[in-house]
Amino acid sequence: MDLIFASANKHKLRELNGLGLEVVLRSYGEIFTHLVLAEDELTFEGNAVSKASQIFKLTGQLTLAEDSGLEVEALNGAPGVYSARFAGPKATDKENCDNLLKLLHGVKNRRAKFTAVLAYIDCDGKVSTYRGECHGKIAESHALGHGFGYDPIFIPEGESLPFSLLPKEFKLKVSHRTAAFKAFCSAQGLR
Ligand code: IMP
Repeated sequence: MDLIFASANKHKLRELNGLGLEVVLRSYGEIFTHLVLAEDELTFEGNAVSKASQIFKLTGQLTLAEDSGLEVEALNGAPGVYSARFAGPKATDKENCDNLLKLLHGVKNRRAKFTAVLAYIDCDGKVSTYRGECHGKIAESHALGHGFGYDPIFIPEGESLPFSLLPKEFKLKVSHRTAAFKAFCSAQGLR
């Protein structure tokens, strides 16, 4: 099954296609090279559905969109839907991580979770959403390595290292994005 993926984030695309499931995602960016999708809703579901709808309106083809972010307990769920621009509209991943580490300086409760919501629009225009979560905690410092976003400071439950220092295959097994994608595949009868 081929789907248009309403995201230009190459990391997300690589992770989902790397799962080797029966779905192949192609970024909308290959077709609409200059289009920037609006994501100004207040929930992950709202943003995922909005991104999928924008692409479905243009193509009429099967579309999958994803919205995700990090929620920190001690910050009442921030940065949430603002994860990508936590330190400003054009913030880099490192600036976002540093901003979070600064806000959590001296804070004991470091519990946090990643959430991903996928929105799928089928050929009749029917929308469905799928949610996945990954629980863990925020590290005390930034650890370079692989991955993106908050991977250098997010330690998944049961581990002592952040995603950036754990094997990539490990993240693919336990991540919020994988959980949401598997829920989508199972609802569609795909393996
Ligand atoms: P958006 O879905 O494009 O709004 O961006 C989600 C943002 O959440 C990313 O830019 C990252 O900052 C963060 N994020 C989402 N998933 C992950 C992940 O798997 N690892 C690290 N950061 C993530």
